[in-house]
Order: sequence, then structure tokens, then C-alpha cells
Amino acid sequence: MSFASLRSARKSKESRSFVNPLAAQISPGTLTDPGSSPIEGIEGPSSTGDTTGSPKSPSYDVLETVSTDGLYKCLPSYLEVRQVRDAGRGIITKERQKAGSTLIATKPHVTVLSTTYLDSYCSACCGPAPETGLKRCTRCRVVWYCDSCCQNNDWPIHKDECIAIQRWASSAPSPDVAIPSDAIRCLGRILLTQQHRGLDSIWSKEINAMQSHRSSMQPSAVESHTHMAHSLVRYLGIANPAELAPFGLNSAGNLVDLISRFATNTFTLTSFSLTPIGICICPSIALANHSCEPNAAIVFPRSSSLPQAQEPLMHLMAIRDIAPNEQVVAAYVDVTLPRELRQKALQETYSFTCKCKLCTKRMAVDPRAAMWCPKLCGGICPVPTEEDNLTRCTKCNTAVTSADAVLDALRVGQEALDKASSLQIKEPAKAKHITTNMIPILTSANLTPSCHPLLAMTRLHQELLIADLPTSLTQQALDDIIRTTAKYSAGLSSILPEGHPVRGVALAELGKLLAVDEPSPPEIAGMPRGQARFPPSGPARLKLAYETLLKAREELVIGFGADGGGGIIGKEVRETIVRLEKELGVWTHRVKDAIEDARAAKKS
Ligand SMILES: [Zn+2]
Ligand SMILES: [Zn+2]
Ligand SMILES: [Zn+2]
Ligand SMILES: [Zn+2]
Repeated sequence: MSFASLRSARKSKESRSFVNPLAAQISPGTLTDPGSSPIEGIEGPSSTGDTTGSPKSPSYDVLETVSTDGLYKCLPSYLEVRQVRDAGRGIITKERQKAGSTLIATKPHVTVLSTTYLDSYCSACCGPAPETGLKRCTRCRVVWYCDSCCQNNDWPIHKDECIAIQRWASSAPSPDVAIPSDAIRCLGRILLTQQHRGLDSIWSKEINAMQSHRSSMQPSAVESHTHMAHSLVRYLGIANPAELAPFGLNSAGNLVDLISRFATNTFTLTSFSLTPIGICICPSIALANHSCEPNAAIVFPRSSSLPQAQEPLMHLMAIRDIAPNEQVVAAYVDVTLPRELRQKALQETYSFTCKCKLCTKRMAVDPRAAMWCPKLCGGICPVPTEEDNLTRCTKCNTAVTSADAVLDALRVGQEALDKASSLQIKEPAKAKHITTNMIPILTSANLTPSCHPLLAMTRLHQELLIADLPTSLTQQALDDIIRTTAKYSAGLSSILPEGHPVRGVALAELGKLLAVDEPSPPEIAGMPRGQARFPPSGPARLKLAYETLLKAREELVIGFGADGGGGIIGKEVRETIVRLEKELGVWTHRVKDAIEDARAAKKS
């Protein structure tokens, strides 16, 4: 199996984007938290993840239906916009929805690639470069397309965008800022499209109906929005306030409103395997409120049967069964983060305090902040905090005596994670040096694989290992990546529920890595029998790959939709499964042949 695809998907990774690169699943919406979690009797993501159980009726306050004035036509008849207490508008299901069903599938109003990905993904359909390569716009020389078809589809808006990009480049003080940021290009496209479609179009009305948090904005946000307004004006070549009128803006205040709506309604645009490649605006999906224990997730599965002009099709998936009259909630922030960090992120960007069940319930141990029992009884303990450094194993009650050392490790680990993340693109070797040194420190502090910052560090390390693969793959390098991917996948599985797209993708990556041909399988003859060695070699490895991919397929059809068979990533997994079935078949035959040979030898 070729590594090229895995590698190219990671190679350029995230540059500085408007969106938090750690939160591939960010799904910013318009509103505040939905209040307490809707589900009683069923554990959310922190449980072993029952996605098929029967949800009971919701306990939050859903008020009256909101008139949508002919907007949000992409909402199917089984969804409804209603007022939710303390949370503005929200999406409510009228009928029961099964895990793996698509709640909404729609093309976002605006999609924009991050600057790093402009030359590796199509700016129209947002698909990865075809084998024949992408074609560059010969005028601005900044955006690239699959072919003339994608270019023509984009031309009505790119026509003006192209001029704006050239204008920006001509006044850029240095080459490294010659391309406007994704945020500025996205805002530019909103205004240009509004002008193109008309201010009375449904498209424009849906943009203007998105809610903002302008009144409760943090001072830091005010500053950044003002900065953005200046850049946007320069980008569009607006010389004085009167020139804002054709864009439907009557004053500078209108412009700040637009930026505020943009800031709280931006989604991460991801590849079919969840690599964050840009940002997008989708008013209908933005109606979904936030929960740290979401029942829905956003993906871009892509389909080989869909015309390119309809891509990227954004899907809001039910990741567990949703009862009638239950609110549909997605996560705006990375839910693998512990509570304080989630709350901080939500406060900074969306100005609200989350009161979901995960944020309010008392948990014996949150796997996001957990360590192994000091006596290694198999139980886990909460990690100590500054306020509470007396923690005990929940199984055998042994006290953690190394509280200071653990606190140090957590602090140093977070600093190292921030540093390594910031170096990931520009100086990957330095970043890898940091993760390589830090993981053993966190592990020896007894943190579980799901504990922050070990989980995030493991993920970053895995990405760096894949990006840095030697051209001639060695057994050691491959096994090292497999072990890291397995640790990451194990950490995720104690946090995210079965069927969560992030979990499915991690399993698919692990399975695919296990299925890579071993460059030089170690001699296993000398190994003691039954000795657990990970990853195994030979037929045992293929079998593990096969089982992992079967599990991945099961989860991907939930996270990426049963109808499309789990999207492109589901298709890749199915193809590898078929290949492995053949290879495993060959092995079985060989074993059978060997047994028969032995029998024949005995007889003769
Ligand atoms: Zn395209
Ligand atoms: Zn152009
Ligand atoms: Zn929460
Ligand atoms: Zn214990």
C-alpha cells in the first residue's frame, strides 16, 4: 500500500488560520449553549459509547417555533427552528433520527481555503488536486482549480475577487503577506456574493440573519475585529464610507457587525478525512447550538457520484440516535480538551459559559484529566490540580503522592504542546524534537493516553512522524508510527462516543498503517511464544489490520453517513478490507497447504 496519500494529506498541515487548528471538529454556530444536556439515562461521549440506545425525552427548555420567513430551505421537514431558553434559536428534531443519518446536507454559502492549501486543493469544489494537477488562475496566480469546469463555476465571484487579490498583492509590504488571510478572503467573498446575488436574495438574508455577539464581545475581540475591518476595506479597495453602500453596508458600524457575525459563525472546512483546510460559512448549520457532548457532527464526506459543482457538500450528521423533540447540538470547540480549556475557548470566541451535562456533572474521573493508579491496580485517578492535590484511585483508593511532579509535568507539557504546535509547519524538525522528548515525560508522570495534554501531544507527534517519513520506509519508522497512532486511537476511544468521525478516522489511519507492507519483518522465530509484541508481524499483523478496519468501517458509516458508505474515507477503508481479505485468504491457504503437506508426509 502506498503511503503517498496519507503523507500528502499531512504534509503541509495547518498554517496559521483563522480557525483553531487543534479543533478539527470545530463547528461554530450562532448561539449560546443549550443548557443542560438533553439526554438522561444515557451516558454521552465519556461512556463506552452506546449509539444505539433509546434516548429519553429532553430536559432543556425548547420554546415556541420560530418563523424562518422562507429562509433555510435546506432544512428537511423533520427539523424545525425553535427558540431555546437562554440559547437563542436552535434546531429541533420532529422525528426520531438514527445514528448515521444525515440531518442537513448543503453547500456552504462561502468556502475559502487556508493560504497553505491554496495550491493543493481546488478553490471551487475544495477537492484535493487530481492526478493531473491543479490549474492556476493566470491573472491573480493565487487560486487553483481542478479544471476549467471548476474555474467557470467560481468565475462569477472570483472575477471581482481576482482583482481584489491582485490589488492586495501590489500593495503588500513583503512577499510573505502578499496573499490576504483566509478570514479577509472569506469576508470579501461574503460581500462580493451579496452584491452579485442581490441584497434581497435569500442568500443575503440568511447571511444577515446570523446572530452576533457584538454586545458581549471581549476587548481583545473588538481590537481584532477593528483590524479586520481595516484589512477588508483595503482588500476591496474601498476609499471612503460611501463606497460601502453597494455592499449593503450603511456605516462602519455595519461592517463591524458583519465581522462579528462572521467571527461567531465560521466553520472549519475539512478534507474528507478531517484535515482542516480552510473556513466556511453556512447559516443553516450554524443554527445548531453547542454542546461538549454533541449528538451531531459536521463532516465533508465527498462522494464520487456527486457532480463537482455541488461540492463541497457540508453534512450535519446524527452521531447517535436523536429522539423526537430533542435539540440537535454540535461541538464548537475541541471536546477532547478538559473543561477549563473548553470553557476558555468558548468564552473567548463565543462569549458564553457552557452548561452542558459534561460541563456541569460531577464525574469521578474525567478521562481528559486522568492518570493511572500509583499502585497500577488498573484503576485511574483524577489528575491533581492546584486547588485539589489530594486525589485517589477510584478503584483501590490509593492516594496520589506525586502531586507536585504531576502538576509540573502538566504545566511543562502544555507549554511544550503550544510551542510544538506553533513550529509544526515552519520548523517540523524542532517540533518533532519537542514531542519526542515530551511524550516520555508525560507518560512517566502516569497520565492516561486520553489525558490532556498527552493526547494532543500524541496526535501532533503522529502527524510529524508521518510528515517526516523517510522515502525508503524502515520497519522501525513504520512500527513507531503504528504505536503512536494506536495510543492516540486508544486515548480518543475513552473520550469520544462510538461513531464520532474523529474516532473513525483515527481507527482508519491505524488500520491502513497496519496494512502497509512490512519493509523488513523482524525474525519472530526467536521470540518467546505468546509474548505480546506491538505491532505484531506477518499474518497476525494483517489480521489486526483487518479487524481494525472492520471496526473503522462500522464507525465511519455513522460519522460520515450510512448512505454514502462513510464517504471517500469509508470507500478507501472498504477497498483495503477487500485487499486484506485476499491476502489473508492467501495466508489461510498457505497454512492449509502446509498442514496437508505435513499430513501427506506422515502418511508416506
Ligand atoms: Zn474542483
Ligand atoms: Zn484569479
Ligand atoms: Zn459543555
Ligand atoms: Zn488503584
